[in-house]
Amino acid sequence: MIEKVLIANRGEIALRVIRTCKRLGIKTVAVYSDEDYDSLHVKQATEAYHIGEASPAKSYLNQEKILEVILSSGADAIHPGYGFLSENSDFATTCEKNNINFIGPSGKSMDLCGDKMQCKAAMLKAKVPTVPGSPGLVKDVEEALKIANDIDYPVMLKSVYGGGGRGIRIVTNDNELREGFETVTSESISAVGKSAIIVEKFLEKTRHIEYQMCRDKHGNAVHIFERECSIQRRNQKLIEQTPSPVVDQETRDRVGELVVKASEAVDYTNLGTAEFLRADNGEFYFIEINARLQVEHPISEMVSGLDFVKLQIDIANGEPLPFKQKDLKMNGYAIECRINAEDTFLDFAPSTGPVPDVTIPSGPSVRCDTYLYPGCTVSPFYDSLMAKLCTWGQTFDESRTRMLTALNDFYIQGVETSIPLYKTILNSEEYKKGDLSTDFLKRYGMIDKLTEDLKKEKVEKSEAAIAAAIVHSEFFKSRIQKNSSSSSNWKYKLD
Ligand code: ADP
Ligand code: ADP
Ligand code: MG
Repeated sequence: MIEKVLIANRGEIALRVIRTCKRLGIKTVAVYSDEDYDSLHVKQATEAYHIGEASPAKSYLNQEKILEVILSSGADAIHPGYGFLSENSDFATTCEKNNINFIGPSGKSMDLCGDKMQCKAAMLKAKVPTVPGSPGLVKDVEEALKIANDIDYPVMLKSVYGGGGRGIRIVTNDNELREGFETVTSESISAVGKSAIIVEKFLEKTRHIEYQMCRDKHGNAVHIFERECSIQRRNQKLIEQTPSPVVDQETRDRVGELVVKASEAVDYTNLGTAEFLRADNGEFYFIEINARLQVEHPISEMVSGLDFVKLQIDIANGEPLPFKQKDLKMNGYAIECRINAEDTFLDFAPSTGPVPDVTIPSGPSVRCDTYLYPGCTVSPFYDSLMAKLCTWGQTFDESRTRMLTALNDFYIQGVETSIPLYKTILNSEEYKKGDLSTDFLKRYGMIDKLTEDLKKEKVEKSEAAIAAAIVHSEFFKSRIQKNSSSSSNWKYKLD
């Protein structure tokens, strides 16, 4: 049984894992880089070890160093969070060899999931529909050109090792394809040291709908419903919600069955995510498996009532799932906004630096997973995600209006954030109607709408400020008058 877990991560996800471990009476070991010595995860863990310089390669990705800390601290398990080493099958295998319980799938299964091509092949075999495209890796630009012309532009070029929106490009003609081939190759090489490219048909006006997979070491598998993550920028998710407005119970069950088959096809254990694109005609196409705890897992926790980190630990301990598919009920509506430190108007460029002050929203059914505290710093070395703001409601609109209130309450001093954009989106008719697609921001001109909203807000704010100043000055005038009427007392006091 797991008694002490090393968390090989930082930021909000490290805190998220520590929280459940504490509740379960499991000891925690944090690791940190030069940049993170005063981070909350360091303070909240039972023990904390410095592992190197700020750059991820020298700390959070340093396998030897992390392994050394696991062994010297006496941790019997490791939780990798997301990003960093979470989908590194070599690392998972090294842990297995050293008798360290890796809280996630086996190295072998992870290897299969981490390769988009091999994984798609396994899905085809299991009769799970995948996006049409090249039957295998394309060996050079010439072959990619031929396939693109066969299946017709626009197509998507993908490095099979890509992730987090990197190593993929949409191209609409031969010239763009030549260029894209180069960028995808170099992005993938700089991220993971290797590249291999596949070509896929680019699906237009598509939705990103993913399913929570869950399978124990005895082969019991369920899905814990879907999440719609169509609101994206640069193929990276910004806002997620569950249930999806276009998934009815029949569809949920039907695609859910495919998801269970998908988890069996790659012998997946623990929690994972099967991502699909839903074409405008309603068809679902598998795109990839994320072999780890997903960033947006809290919204699924909110509608299922489960603690996913506990579930992960129980599965890693070899316990059978305590429920069957029919026992799982979806309750209410949940939304997540990824609060990023970025400048919407500078093409979402990261905005980093000290945060002297912060107010974290709260209230009924509001959850905020964050590493922020007044006086902390948003580091340029790591992901721009500062907080995940999630709200739940009995109806979609209750969840949405709670989110708007929480976004208004969220104050982060010192860096630019995605909060203003989210207010614009959540107030838009398109979002309210559930008219979502992965090109939502462009399709509905959300950045222009944001500019308008900010202008309006500025006028309203300055009018409100003037009104407040008048009230203030009236108030002080009356105080001054009161004080001067009792000036003799004042004089007396001063003496
Ligand atoms: P990553 O590993 O970076 O997450 P994915 O394959 O999951 O890459 O794709 C990320 C996003 O890119 C999807 O959510 C979707 O918006 C878009 N996308 C991927 N493949 C296609 C496709 N064939 N057609 C249209 N959009 C796609
Ligand atoms: P994906 O985008 O791969 O479909 P997610 O939406 O769950 O899946 O996001 C994973 C992304 O989180 C990674 O691609 C990376 O950009 C980011 N990330 C990685 N490590 C961290 C971390 N420690 N803290 C915050 N964000 C991270
Ligand atoms: Mg993905």
